[in-house]
Amino acid sequence: MFKWRPRSLRAKLLLFSVSTSLILGVTLGLAWLYFQTAAMTKEISRGNRTRQTAIQRILADEFRGPNKTVSTAAKHVGRAFFYGKYGKDIVKGEITNPDGIVLASRDKRAVGRPSTDAGEIRESIRLKRLVTSYWVLRRPGDLTGKQKISGPSPFTLNPKVQEFTMPVFVKGRTELALHIYISLNRSSSSVRSLAFIAALIILNITLASAVLTFFWLDRLIYKPILALDEAAERITVGDTSVRAVVTNEDEFGELARRFNAMADSLIDARFQADTDSLTGLFNYRHLHSFLAAQLALAQRYERELTVAMLDIDHFKNVNDLYGHPTGDDVLRMAVGFIKSQLRQVDYMARYGGEEFVIIMPETGLEEGIKVMERVLVGFPDNVYVERMGIKHPVFISIGVADFPYCGEDANDILTAADMALLLSKRRGRNQVSYFRSINQKNAG
Ligand code: GH3
Ligand code: MG
Ligand code: MG
Repeated sequence: MFKWRPRSLRAKLLLFSVSTSLILGVTLGLAWLYFQTAAMTKEISRGNRTRQTAIQRILADEFRGPNKTVSTAAKHVGRAFFYGKYGKDIVKGEITNPDGIVLASRDKRAVGRPSTDAGEIRESIRLKRLVTSYWVLRRPGDLTGKQKISGPSPFTLNPKVQEFTMPVFVKGRTELALHIYISLNRSSSSVRSLAFIAALIILNITLASAVLTFFWLDRLIYKPILALDEAAERITVGDTSVRAVVTNEDEFGELARRFNAMADSLIDARFQADTDSLTGLFNYRHLHSFLAAQLALAQRYERELTVAMLDIDHFKNVNDLYGHPTGDDVLRMAVGFIKSQLRQVDYMARYGGEEFVIIMPETGLEEGIKVMERVLVGFPDNVYVERMGIKHPVFISIGVADFPYCGEDANDILTAADMALLLSKRRGRNQVSYFRSINQKNAG
């Protein structure tokens, strides 16, 4: 059962779960971004190193024999770098002299002319080291209108190139420069597709974390509180059989146990307030509220209800002849016997000293009188004082009243039953009477 209220504790727990999971997701995303950028930068510089050592090896081979000129060497280096395995991903490539005049190029028309990047080339030669910079292109392979960027971020969507300018030393002198543009598309697109998978994974982790956190908090905090709340509510409206379920051995478990102990003592107190200690029957106080509730039900569902009032005959004599404790025994005996004659749904209370009231819900007058006659007939055989092997029977008088004919509220019905009881006493006791006064409904 999942109840939802926007301002409830559960909503706050959900908010907490979602926000902590979002923080987790963002942290994971940033970490991934950082490591991926680092990995890409590392891959690019590894590529640069490979190219540098390759050039030195090719040149070493070139100048091993005699009569090698710088310009033939330039052509060989160029061929390796523009078309060979090092030419992979190269957008534009040229070998120039130290002044930036192109000696070899993929573009034959460029040979013999100053490179368009002569400034960059002279700068690299002046610094005597590799110079790299990064550019964003409008279209793949189109260097016109390129724009400089600070580094090889894997998340720029436009095509990117690395400009790579390297002075080449021959026998200790700077003789050549290698100037190439390398496309970073392949590495960045692989990073990008990885980024997509990573984003999916991170999203899933975030979602799963939110869901798991929420359900965990829900089980740990909300459910126990809800269970306690429901138990408290039901006890408040009178369902005293309810107890909180102890699910966790934590503070909530302890709270549930205390709650149950509290409910027990509450019910104990209520039970004591409603019960007669001698007979264990409900007392006068309870009788009134119970009868009122039963009459309300009978009225609502248009059902009959019969009430009987019973009074032990000459009970004073029992006390006088055999003593008060024996009188108490007789009272308990009487209760035991009378109860044995009633149905489970019938109700019995001690009205006063040796007077009892029985409520028989959904029972008409005829049936009620029949039950009471059974009690009356069986009473002396079952309720007695035994002295020296001789049983001294006790008798009882009974008055019966029925709803709705004898009245509609508890007082009226009890008065009618009392009057009927009085009638039994007047007529000589040990009998069942029914009495309906002339001002009662359906008098007769
Ligand atoms: P009647 O037939 O007219 O009812 O006569 P009775 O003697 O039964 O009626 P009465 O009202 O004169 O006496 C009731 C007696 O019940 C008096 C009282 O001492 C006794 N009694 C009331 N409560 C208890 C009790 O808890 N234990 C004992 N042993 N006696 C009780
Ligand atoms: Mg009495
Ligand atoms: Mg009596």
